[in-house]
Amino acid sequence: MKRQAKILIPTALCSDLHAHIFRGTTEQGGFLFADLSQAKGQVVLSATASYLVPRSGWERQTGYHLSLRDEERLKVMLMARERDSHLVEFHSHRGMGPAGFSVSDTAGLAEVLRYVKWKLPGKMYGAIVWSHMQVAGAVWTSPPDGVMPISDVVQIDVSGNPKPLRFADNRALESSVRGWGYRRQK
Ligand SMILES: [Zn+2]
Repeated sequence: MKRQAKILIPTALCSDLHAHIFRGTTEQGGFLFADLSQAKGQVVLSATASYLVPRSGWERQTGYHLSLRDEERLKVMLMARERDSHLVEFHSHRGMGPAGFSVSDTAGLAEVLRYVKWKLPGKMYGAIVWSHMQVAGAVWTSPPDGVMPISDVVQIDVSGNPKPLRFADNRALESSVRGWGYRRQK
C-alpha cells in the first residue's frame, strides 16, 4: 500500500491559520503542533495548537519568498519539544497557480529537516503549501528520511465532522516530493 499522511485541523485553528496566511500581500506562514495516530499504514497528524509567525519572525518576507529567522525556528522547535509534539510547517503561495513546493522551498526544507533531526529527535515533520486554490504537502516520518505525500488536509468541526480542503492533484504532489526519494509503491 502506498504510504500517505493525513493532517487533521480543528475548525477554529484552521480559520485562524487561513486568515493569517492570506492577509497582506506577502507570503505568510506558521506551524502546527500535532499528535500522531497511525492506522492501516496511514500516518495521521492531528493538530492541537498552532503558532502563527509574526512579521518580526521573518528574515525575508516577500510576495514569493519567506525565510525564517534562526532564533524563531529554534523557538518553535523548543515549543514542540516542550509539548512532546510532532511539527508541521505551513506557508501561503500568493499566486493563483497550483500548490506545490517551489525550488527555494525544496532547498530550504533540506536544511530544515537536518535541523529537525537534531532538535526534535524521534518526531515527524510535515510541510504544507497553501495556495488560493489548493493545498499540498509532505510528511517526513524520520527526518530527513521517510518522506510521504500528504493525501488530505481535513478541517474537523466541534462535533467531529470532517470537511476536506481542496487538494492539489496527486501526481503533482508526488512529483514535488520525488526529489526526497519518495517512490510510488506498486
Ligand atoms: Zn513556498
